[in-house]
Amino acid sequence: PMGVCPSARMALLRDNFTGLLNPWARPDVLTCTSWGAPIIWDGTFDPAVAQQEALQQNLTIGLTVFAVGRYLEKYLARFLETAERHFMVGQRVVYYVFTERPAAVPRVALARGRRLHVERVARERRWQDVSMQRMRTLHEALGGRLGREAHFVLCMDVDQHFRGAFGPEVLAESVAQLHAWHSLAARLLPLTRARSAAALAPGEGDFYYHAAVFGGSVAALRGLTAQCARGQRQDRERGLEARWHDESHLNKFFWLHKPAKVLSPEFCWSPEIGRRAEIRRPRLLWAPKEYALLRD
Ligand code: UDP
Ligand code: MN
Repeated sequence: PMGVCPSARMALLRDNFTGLLNPWARPDVLTCTSWGAPIIWDGTFDPAVAQQEALQQNLTIGLTVFAVGRYLEKYLARFLETAERHFMVGQRVVYYVFTERPAAVPRVALARGRRLHVERVARERRWQDVSMQRMRTLHEALGGRLGREAHFVLCMDVDQHFRGAFGPEVLAESVAQLHAWHSLAARLLPLTRARSAAALAPGEGDFYYHAAVFGGSVAALRGLTAQCARGQRQDRERGLEARWHDESHLNKFFWLHKPAKVLSPEFCWSPEIGRRAEIRRPRLLWAPKEYALLRD
């Protein structure tokens, strides 16, 4: 503008390219980790570009979900119905549902290019074991048909539903989800028992990641699930269990193997937190916890 001194004009020009005038900037939030991985928030990516890149690569994207015991009737239909509206719309998708009762899986109408495959699993007695056993089961599935069918896989809890677009912008070699309630807790709290394979030393931990959403390439997830399952087995042999079960082991893995992409809490949001200015477009919403009804 006229009347601006040369150095101020230089600063304005520079900001045009790098700072406040960048339409894809979110100066209100952290958008990059210390190891250079993007933390994606609404407004930091162009969904149309991600969509086009995924189509050019002719990707098949897997979505795994476990629905064992009462979680099946309570959550699975809504999870799948809302996934049809919001998850990787326009891409080739293969759902993998793991349950002990394949016949009870609801029939959800699927759009073209989308398939659903049901795998039978044994029902563990304790809910903690249902949750932890997922790592071993996923490891095997990734080494079999799922691994041959899909290029990238997202692994999710069933007790949530989609509310906004969850598209190929989330894809990367390895993907971790910031926990809506305490993503900064990894540095602040002793998160698990000191003797667990999942233990971190004081001061270790980047963020606290939520096990309700993680993903990546088949190869990366083979490594992740192997390490988590190994840690869980080691703990069991020592007669102990990490405080947050598979989530503790997942956090240990991501401390040692930094995720290539991090999803902001809007990708898996808890409505009980209430409105937050930085959460513009929640994509998955947690169901209220009803453990008394669901867990034995
Ligand atoms: N799960 C299940 N049946 C069970 C316990 C767990 O199907 O009895 C699966 C389900 O996909 C669930 C996930 O394991 O979303 C993790 O358990 P939960 O959601 O109860 O754990 P939280 O999110 O509360 O840590
Ligand atoms: Mn859950």
